[in-house]
Amino acid sequence: MAHVTEIARTDSEAETKEAVARAVALLEAGGIVAVPTETVYGLAADAMNPEAVARIFEAKDRPLFDPLIVHLPRKYLLHEVAEVPEDIAKVVAQLTETFWPGPLTLLLPKKPCIPDIVTAGLPTVAVRVGAHPVFGRIAKAFGRPIAAPSANLFGRISPTSAAAVFQELEGRVPLIIDGGACSRGLESTIIRIEPGEKKPIFHVVRAGPLSDDELKNFGKVRYQKHNDSVENQSPEAPGLLASHYAPRTPLRLIEEPGSFRPEPGKRYGLLSYRGSPEDGFIGRNDWAEVRILSPGSGKMPEAGVRFFFILRELDALGLDEIIAEPVPERAMGRAIMDRLRRASVG
Ligand code: AMP
Ligand code: MG
Repeated sequence: MAHVTEIARTDSEAETKEAVARAVALLEAGGIVAVPTETVYGLAADAMNPEAVARIFEAKDRPLFDPLIVHLPRKYLLHEVAEVPEDIAKVVAQLTETFWPGPLTLLLPKKPCIPDIVTAGLPTVAVRVGAHPVFGRIAKAFGRPIAAPSANLFGRISPTSAAAVFQELEGRVPLIIDGGACSRGLESTIIRIEPGEKKPIFHVVRAGPLSDDELKNFGKVRYQKHNDSVENQSPEAPGLLASHYAPRTPLRLIEEPGSFRPEPGKRYGLLSYRGSPEDGFIGRNDWAEVRILSPGSGKMPEAGVRFFFILRELDALGLDEIIAEPVPERAMGRAIMDRLRRASVG
């Protein structure tokens, strides 16, 4: 598994051409390559080649029960990897027309051509068409479905830059395609669709950049409850482990500012939403470090795009503990709170 990890830049057209060709050559040879997407960086392999897909699990130390997302080069290929049940065909067409390419992943019954290792033996497959221009070129040049989970070690912070992938997977992957910072910064919204009586029902299996406001024009949005242990995992969301997205420094999400009691001598870092004294956290301690998701006005897309970047930065400061302030659970705030709850030790 040991590799010398190279980073291919995509600043000019000549560099991009070469990077795309190198990525495609690796995919065709059954190898793995880290690629940019608009959500977070992914670790890609040929979805139809079980040995190639096994290399993703190995490089990430990912358990085989955690299924991967399949990325398609083009929308119409959906029907090659998934069955679209008749009673939801119309809404699937509306959603893919509206949101693909983009950060929406659909769970649908899988076709037999998708190897079991991709879906962890489940009868469903998670599919999307990503919006990153460089990944789009790689996918189109390769021409077949690509399996790609986030390019981090299992359970750790998702990478939103090539440098972060290097930190996570140096020596475990031969090539990282540097497509710049991810424009969304949080993993895709995953939904399962139920026909419903009047309107289709969207069960949000993982909150993400696409909010209920955007989805509710097409159906009723329902959020699934947070699973708090591996034992009570619903088979619907096997990868949504209670502990996930975790920094090495202990992180604690504190929902009430008044309940925080600093221990003397401990170096605490604060992960703040907008750095406002009104939120009640900033003034409560002599923080060793403070990082703010969206300084001033607290804009959700900005908070989302900076979230994993800032978490990774705080984790590198040798703090005793990271204290996270809650963010309002609206729009992308829901996805941020989901990540914070899973990253939190208690
Ligand atoms: P990652 O790309 O690392 O964020 O991981 C993909 C996630 O998608 C997994 O951890 C699962 O939660 C989810 N997922 C993928 N395939 C399925 C599936 N067939 N059923 C349910 N959830 C899935
Ligand atoms: Mg992941």
